[in-house]
Amino acid sequence: MNGTVYKSTGSWYTVKSVEGDFYECRIKGKFRTQNIKSTNPVAVGDHVVFQLEDIGDETVAVISEIGERKNYIIRKSVKLSKQTHIIAANLDQVFLLITLNNPPTFTAFIDRFLVTAEAYDIPVVLLFNKLDTYSQEELDEVDYLMGLYSHIGYTCIPIEAKDGKNVDKVRAMMVDKTSMFAGHSGVGKSTLVNALEPGLQLKTTEISEQHLQGQHTTTFAEMYDLSFNARIIDTPGIKGFGIVDMEQDEIGDYFPEFFELKSECKFNNCLHLDEPKCAVKDALENDKIAWSRYRSYVQMLTGEEDSPYRER
Ligand code: GDP
Ligand code: ZN
Repeated sequence: MNGTVYKSTGSWYTVKSVEGDFYECRIKGKFRTQNIKSTNPVAVGDHVVFQLEDIGDETVAVISEIGERKNYIIRKSVKLSKQTHIIAANLDQVFLLITLNNPPTFTAFIDRFLVTAEAYDIPVVLLFNKLDTYSQEELDEVDYLMGLYSHIGYTCIPIEAKDGKNVDKVRAMMVDKTSMFAGHSGVGKSTLVNALEPGLQLKTTEISEQHLQGQHTTTFAEMYDLSFNARIIDTPGIKGFGIVDMEQDEIGDYFPEFFELKSECKFNNCLHLDEPKCAVKDALENDKIAWSRYRSYVQMLTGEEDSPYRER
């Protein structure tokens, strides 16, 4: 039988068959794990093959194969000597919730998130929430940011999760897809999910960041079917993605507006820093690339929190 993993506890996996029935499965032996060494061979969102086997007088569902993953997100545990845990696989999109206030979401965080998503090959939709709480100045800032990010190619939607404004637009984008919600604690993830599907309670808010960091055991994601033919993957306590190992010269490729210009730089290995005849620096000087984006790029490249490039 074929199915999709909806939940895992580490030793048991809840699998929904294509016929729509749920099975509690075990895994069999060792799989080839697609070039990543992870603490869990099977993750939520995995497409699997499983069969019912008679063991003694019990019938047990056993997973025997995992389908190729189109993408996956991981968490690296520093405590567990950098072991990789696959949080979820086969995501169609991630909605990143952004608020200017309570809490503030800085462009450095947005850009880092987008770069990671590009590296993971997961489309991101930016949701600017709590518009009802903003001053005119802040609404102008939202307009500016939406212009900036939609110009790069990211879909941006202004919403008010609390009173349901534009929630229908989010819902429409979710049909037939598997989605995840991300963003700082307090940006409105649970409120939005509740507006999308009344009664559904996310785990996201139950675990604080600090708590997670101090944890030895891994937390597991869970997938839910929504009433409008959509799926949500809920990942406890994850505000962003885990860190991806990236080469220095790879980072620029995940800024789509930089990548577009790369072939016009004099050097094909241009890092867009101090090289002569750099198309990215030219575009920056001509206001075709946002300074905030460039600053995020330099921060990611150098690992410095405080880069010499100030926001304008
Ligand atoms: P989460 O931590 O991301 O799940 O955030 P919550 O959904 O728990 O929301 C945090 C707080 O923001 C709650 O008090 C919500 O009622 C409030 N909130 C969420 N969306 C909106 C909104 O669009 N407008 C206003 N005014 N408050 C909101
Ligand atoms: Zn360059």
